[in-house]
Parts: sequence; C-alpha cells; structure tokens
Amino acid sequence: MTKRVVLLGPPGSGKGTQAVGLAKALGVPAISTGAIFRDNLSRGTKLGKTAGSYMAAGQLVPDEVTNAMVADRLAQPDAADGFILDGYPRNLEQVVELDAMLAERGLEIDLALDLALDHVLVVARLLNRAQIEGRADDTEPVIRERLAVYRRSTEPISGAYAARGKLVSVDGDGTIEDVALRLHAACVPAT
Ligand code: AMP
Repeated sequence: MTKRVVLLGPPGSGKGTQAVGLAKALGVPAISTGAIFRDNLSRGTKLGKTAGSYMAAGQLVPDEVTNAMVADRLAQPDAADGFILDGYPRNLEQVVELDAMLAERGLEIDLALDLALDHVLVVARLLNRAQIEGRADDTEPVIRERLAVYRRSTEPISGAYAARGKLVSVDGDGTIEDVALRLHAACVPAT
C-alpha cells in the first residue's frame, strides 16, 4: 500500500482536511508545513518569527528554513513508516531536497496526489474560510498572491512527479467525503 504521499493542489483545494483524513485511513501522520509554521507563529518561536512575515505576504518561507524543518519532522519515529505531506514540497528545489532526505534512508515518494480545483472556486472557498477561521493570510490580496505563487512555483512540480509515473490527479470538487473516497482509492490499489 502507498504510504509516502505528497498532497498537491492549490490553496483552498481542501488539502489540509483531506491530508488529515487520508493519514488516519493509512495509519500515518499528516505533516502540514503551513500548520507547523502557524503553530510556531502563535507560540512566538524563532522559527515562527522568521516565517511570519513571509506568510502574511503570501510568499514562500525561504527553502533553507522550510527544508530543515521538514527534515527534522520526517526524522521523528512516527514518520518512519510513512506520511502524508501537505503543503510541501512547494517548488522544484524542495522536490530535490525531499528526494535527498528520503534517499539517505533508501526511501522515495510513492505517490503524488494532485487535488485539482478550478481557481475561481478556490478564491471563493478561501474567502469563505477567512470568515470562518479568521486566518491572517486569507484576505483577498494575500489570496491572490498565494495563487500567483502557486501557479509560478508549485504547479510545475506536478510535472516532476508525472515524469516518474507517480502523479495521480484527483477531482477536488465535491463533498469532503466524496473527495476522501477518491483519494483513498488512489492510494489503495483495487483488490
Ligand atoms: P498553507 O497552510 O499550506 O497554505 O501554508 C501557509 C503559508 O505557510 C504559505 O503561504 C507559506 O508562507 C508558508 N509555507 C507553507 N508550506 C511552505 C513550503 N513548503 N515552503 C515555503 N513556505 C511554506
């Protein structure tokens, strides 16, 4: 069964929610770089202070900072048998770095799941989430910047996984349960 998974898709595609559900179903941790940054920001750690200004502007936190944080997290025992990565990698440099982290242990990414959702729907969902969760980076100008960063830096990485035959695109439109079933089916081969 597929256990080392990266979940791709634009901000607002439901990655965070789906990563948690899929991780539970597969018995592995969901690792969200955005959530780790937000946790550090709220606790006022050095990492949080470094990341905060980039997050508020909708920009990527520098690779050295992000890669080191992910390397630490993946080295923890609960990630030894697998993980769902949500929000990482986010550019081609991070793809290379993630490969290197895993290769050190003779491992590789089993599957990249691309949660596909129209960008018009994405903006609507994010604005709605802003009202519910009050996330500081869910204002319209920051949402537009995050989508621009996504198109420029993150979208191209699906090609890297496609070239290895590891990419599966999943329709992200539908109820949480519908999308969860599609993702699960992509991870667990039909018997
Ligand atoms: P997310 O919760 O995934 O939307 O991430 C929120 C913010 O955290 C992003 O807009 C970035 O500022 C930062 N962030 C999360 N993951 C990464 C990453 N892999 N590389 C750089 N910055 C990241």
